[in-house]
Amino acid sequence: MSTHVTHWIGGKPHPGGAAERRGDIHNPATGEVTGTVALAGPAEVDTAVAAARAAFPAWRDASLAQRAAVLFRFRELVHRHSGELAAIISAEHGKVVSDAAGEVARGLEVVEFACGIPHLLKGAFSENVSTRVDAYSIPQPLGVVAAVTPFNFPAMVPMWMFPVAIACGNTVVLKPSEKDPSAAVRLAELWAEAGLPDGVFNVVHGDREAVEALLVHPDVKAVSFVGSTPIARHVYATAAAHGKRVQALGGAKNHMLVLADADLDTAADAAVSAAYGSAGERCMAVSAVVAVEAVADDLLERITERVRRLRVGPGDDERSEMGPLVTREHRDRVAAYLEAGVREGATLAIDGRVHPVLGGGGAGFWLGPSLLDRVTPEMSCYTDEIFGPVLSMLRVPDLDAGLRLINANPYGNGTAVFTADGAAARRFQNEVEVGMVGINVPIPVPMAYYSFGGWKDSLFGDSHMHGVEGVRFYTRTKAVTARWRPGAGEAAGSRVDLGF
Ligand code: NAD
Repeated sequence: MSTHVTHWIGGKPHPGGAAERRGDIHNPATGEVTGTVALAGPAEVDTAVAAARAAFPAWRDASLAQRAAVLFRFRELVHRHSGELAAIISAEHGKVVSDAAGEVARGLEVVEFACGIPHLLKGAFSENVSTRVDAYSIPQPLGVVAAVTPFNFPAMVPMWMFPVAIACGNTVVLKPSEKDPSAAVRLAELWAEAGLPDGVFNVVHGDREAVEALLVHPDVKAVSFVGSTPIARHVYATAAAHGKRVQALGGAKNHMLVLADADLDTAADAAVSAAYGSAGERCMAVSAVVAVEAVADDLLERITERVRRLRVGPGDDERSEMGPLVTREHRDRVAAYLEAGVREGATLAIDGRVHPVLGGGGAGFWLGPSLLDRVTPEMSCYTDEIFGPVLSMLRVPDLDAGLRLINANPYGNGTAVFTADGAAARRFQNEVEVGMVGINVPIPVPMAYYSFGGWKDSLFGDSHMHGVEGVRFYTRTKAVTARWRPGAGEAAGSRVDLGF
């Protein structure tokens, strides 16, 4: 059955103009086209921004209690429909259903954080900064904010942004990935069911053209972006040049350093789940395992043993632990790194092209878990973000060399160290130039009440997502200084005369 996914504007589906372009949606497990998606041009973007702008005055004046009540209802609805959302995500992205359910759960944590918005929006108040003069600050919403998100977490990444933006009193235009657009529409329906006023949350589907229109639109006050580094850099520069506040999160090369005293079974389990979970299509996936030479062969053996047992298959098959890649082009691009790695001198220790697929795989976009050993920093499999199930293994003599290697990499999203030595871990945490650090934890995604974001080429802008930084990003502070004369008949004041 083929479906057509349309925009969601002003609280209802919006069919788009007659001349609007369309894109195909695939089931990555079978390779079949399962539907089409509308691809907006500037006219549809204008319509969505106008709806968001019209909804802003009433929504910013909704009381904190009213906003929180909508958020609580939305939380319940997403929770109740999380199985359905996971199935939608798995069918278009390819990840296994349990993984998709995990991303919905992590997104829900941000909704739960945003339910506490009355507490988060408290300003500061200083009484009597001068005689009968008070000073205070008011965090106010920005207006219409745009959210542009990647294919790899079609529910969680938008949920890093819109619950906080909406709770702060803004209205939102979300432009999800055109590769897996349906989850965003289902979330929009749940917002409507939760009682969110029409126009507060809008979804515009599209590609580069829709994004460009949002980046230069005079009524868009801020842009939150997550995607690859070249596009993040472009989004940051363009939106900032058009006077907008921007947070643009980019790509990653996440290193897992394994020291000689680490528990190698724990490290091997962690490397396999962090490198191959969701077929490596995670911004926090471990793509480079850096082993201290003394334990490298032993670790490789333990990883290989686990990879052999990994069940690759369709996302909706309960036995599957890893699904296909998102598109045929992406699968081919990822597989090309295996040949490039060997050409450049690496050893192909595990070749995912021969890994069995449950049910045979058919015309799906399959590539099994792969490992390139003896990778060096100048090889393309190391310098590029592969974003697939290809783990590179690098060998270093010690902690110092591991730290130097990680800090020389231009990306700085996530990293982890595996060790039994608290002092070594503390030094790693102190000196590593990466935004999110795990100690014996391979994927250190912060909880919703902390903020998510990398350093260096993994983030352009000043604010990380959700947590207190998210609230700060979606508000601007007004500082008020107020003097009131005493009312008629009131004493001039009971001020103590201190003699100065
Ligand atoms: P992408 O950069 O191709 O696309 C991201 C968004 O930008 C999509 O909505 C897409 O339609 C739009 N887009 C694509 N090309 C564009 C262009 N030329 N101009 C304007 N907009 C454009 O990324 P993707 O392939 O969807 O997602 C994978 C990437 O996202 C990886 O690099 C991954 O590391 C990154 N990512 C980063 C984080 C993080 O937190 N740092 C989280 C998730 C994903």
